[in-house]
Amino acid sequence: MTDTITSATRGGRDQDFLAPAARLRGAGIGGLEELTDLQRSERLARMREGSLGSIHSWELVTAVDGPGTRMTIFFNGCPLRCLYCHNPDTFLMKDGEPVEAQELLRRMRRYRGVFRASGGGITLSGGEVLMQPAFARTLLRGAKEMGIHTCIDTSGFLGANASDEFLEDVDLVLLDVKSGDEETYKKVTGRALAPTIEFGDRLAAKGVSIWARFVLVPGLTSDPRNVENVARIIERWGEAVERVEVLPFHQMGTDKWDALGLDYQLRDTRPPEPELVEATREIFRSHGFVVH
Ligand code: SF4
Repeated sequence: MTDTITSATRGGRDQDFLAPAARLRGAGIGGLEELTDLQRSERLARMREGSLGSIHSWELVTAVDGPGTRMTIFFNGCPLRCLYCHNPDTFLMKDGEPVEAQELLRRMRRYRGVFRASGGGITLSGGEVLMQPAFARTLLRGAKEMGIHTCIDTSGFLGANASDEFLEDVDLVLLDVKSGDEETYKKVTGRALAPTIEFGDRLAAKGVSIWARFVLVPGLTSDPRNVENVARIIERWGEAVERVEVLPFHQMGTDKWDALGLDYQLRDTRPPEPELVEATREIFRSHGFVVH
């Protein structure tokens, strides 16, 4: 995004709910050198050591993905299969472009003034950033060495991949809590809820700031009991939770599912009515959260 997209249009990649127009435009890896000629074995070795990553795209955004103006980098590869995902083209790591950590760090350095002036920084998103923890760590460490604010956007499912040292370099986590009860979580993502809760518990214990996010899909995640359970999970994390963001589902990823020949099950699902969005936000407010 784009300042021109207001909260009214908010609504995946989860972050697509926040900036659909800009995201779907597909910034790509413009300006970054792509290393397609590397041998596969060398590529894997460099990915393991964290100097090379598989990324979908990067972009400069304002007022989404964390505070201020941010350089958001979208990683390829995700262990979840959210029914509402707006970027199924990030599902597989092999579909991303190989990009050097140094390339991205050079670019971050260039934007330091913008980050400083806007109170922004970098956000590592996806896909799932914790699919490539070594690469993420190189970027986070490099950013911290330049005094840049760091954020990761994650489902927490692979939270065990983030070591304590890794978390030392993370200022903020956008933590997606995709459902509050086990059964719905499994239905939405294909995976288990427990790792997200455990990861949130760890972040809270370490004092890492959390912006909790919940995607509101009518008929799928919207049951007030499910929302109440999400609120109870987030409540466990106490003071670490700076805000809760309720992101209304929208239908902007359909074409990608079709293009990939995947079965998109939410074709007939409508975006939530404003009343439902408000009622859902109210549930979170009733738990004392600052809600966006
Ligand atoms: S967690 Fe993975 S599958 Fe789910 S919305 Fe995000 S990128 Fe898509």
